[in-house]
Amino acid sequence: MSALENEVNKVMENAFEAFKIYKKVSAKKRSDFLRNIGEEIIKLGDELIETVITETNLPEARVRGELGRTVSQLTKFADLIDEGSWCEATIDVSDLEREPLPKPDIRKLLVPLGPIVVFGAGNFPLAFSVAGGDTASALAGGNPVIVKGHPAHPKTGLLVALAISKAVEKCGLPAGTFGFINDDGYKSGQLLVKHPNTKGVGFTGSLNGGMALVKLAAEREDPIPVFAEMGSINPVVILEEALKEDCADIAAKLVASVNLGAGQFCTNPGLVITGKTAGYSGFVEALTKEVEATGGAQMFSTSVLRNYTLNSNKMFSYSEVTILAQGTKETGSENVPPVIASVSASDFIQNPRLHQEVFGPFSLLVVCDNKKELLAVVNSLKGQLTATVYASETELPKNEELIDAILEKCGRLLLNGVPTGVEVCAAMQHGGPFPAASDSRFTSVGVGAIKRFVRPVAFQDFPEHLLPMELQNRNPLKIWRVVNNTLTKESIE
Ligand code: NAP
Repeated sequence: MSALENEVNKVMENAFEAFKIYKKVSAKKRSDFLRNIGEEIIKLGDELIETVITETNLPEARVRGELGRTVSQLTKFADLIDEGSWCEATIDVSDLEREPLPKPDIRKLLVPLGPIVVFGAGNFPLAFSVAGGDTASALAGGNPVIVKGHPAHPKTGLLVALAISKAVEKCGLPAGTFGFINDDGYKSGQLLVKHPNTKGVGFTGSLNGGMALVKLAAEREDPIPVFAEMGSINPVVILEEALKEDCADIAAKLVASVNLGAGQFCTNPGLVITGKTAGYSGFVEALTKEVEATGGAQMFSTSVLRNYTLNSNKMFSYSEVTILAQGTKETGSENVPPVIASVSASDFIQNPRLHQEVFGPFSLLVVCDNKKELLAVVNSLKGQLTATVYASETELPKNEELIDAILEKCGRLLLNGVPTGVEVCAAMQHGGPFPAASDSRFTSVGVGAIKRFVRPVAFQDFPEHLLPMELQNRNPLKIWRVVNNTLTKESIE
């Protein structure tokens, strides 16, 4: 057995043992643990900020913002557990007098799956990484977590992992509640997914990576769920009146969004769809002006830069694609300027390679001859994390068929905005029909993400003292529950 196999086995055995204890700790202890992780991460101070900047080239303001988001995600999950209703405690008390058969006492709630393996994305060294949303939601649900560190930021990963381990110790939890494997290569991740003690996987990253893990998990003797949040081209559809009224404003917002963080966002607007109508030439003019005035930013790793160069060059090599505008690259700078290319609707529909994500500051403008073609472009798209519609107030209701078609394709539909900037809140949906995510029923951002790592269990005719606290008559946790079809915070008489 190789050293790596030994390491994976040890981590997974520890997680298995920890699960027996961690799944039973009180909600209060679990929420304290999440808050403690946040505190330990904050204590890392400037050392963490500097390490992230050195490893990823991200600007300080962005890193500090991401740190704030990471800690606030942990707090939000802690608040969720304290409030308690997330576990959907549902109580149907017995009716022994019922005819022709007595009704049994049945009580259901959500319980943790078991050890969860988390793969973070390279482009979010904190908020989608070691202590990111996947880890926070899995721990909140009562599952031990094992993180496979991302090679783009190994030192950052290690610092955060040590902070989590400190919180584990401080809260008196078993050491195996959290595990970390810092590895450059696919082997450890594959061993973790295949390990019999692994009960679920959270993944944020590329389509290829996500699908490789989905396949691996499905081929196990006991298949396990993989919640893979993968890439997306986030179409932006601009309708006629909006284009005529606001072309300069829309162009400015779009270019800023395409260029944000060197385009290294899963919500980057990689596709713009519009018609050759009254505002079109003004829009192209404004778009060109904005792009040409933009210098770009440095990408977070050489491998992301390599992939961007490869994939954007591939796009430019198709004869039907024309480069409309590109930003200026200053001599000596490693910044990557934005590029907007264009293609006709019919060519776009016919060539599926034009539908692929180019991860970076790139967007493809699809030009339609009429509304029918615009609808056909939307119908040709695969699943997306987001879609955006620019429309005037009056034209939105006039385009119901188009809006319905767009809604079929995405997890979040925006009106007159840009898709970058994902709010962490209860109503957020960050996921979408395949291939944006492997399971469109769930979100990876916001407290709803906890639902991925839990499953419902029903107890029939159990005595009070053997039931989980959430299901006991006396409701000691004072949480909202459904008792005989009625939402209540009261105890049962
Ligand atoms: P990535 O290349 O897929 O890597 C993510 C992690 O998965 C890494 O740890 C990587 O291991 C591992 N991995 C990839 N392929 C694997 C395989 N075949 N077997 C085992 N492990 C594998 O993604 P990335 O480059 O870091 O991130 C950029 C991508 O993520 C973009 O496409 C972007 O759109 C997407 N993204 C999506 C979201 C979302 O919420 N949907 C958010 C952010 C980013 P290694 O250690 O070997 O690299």
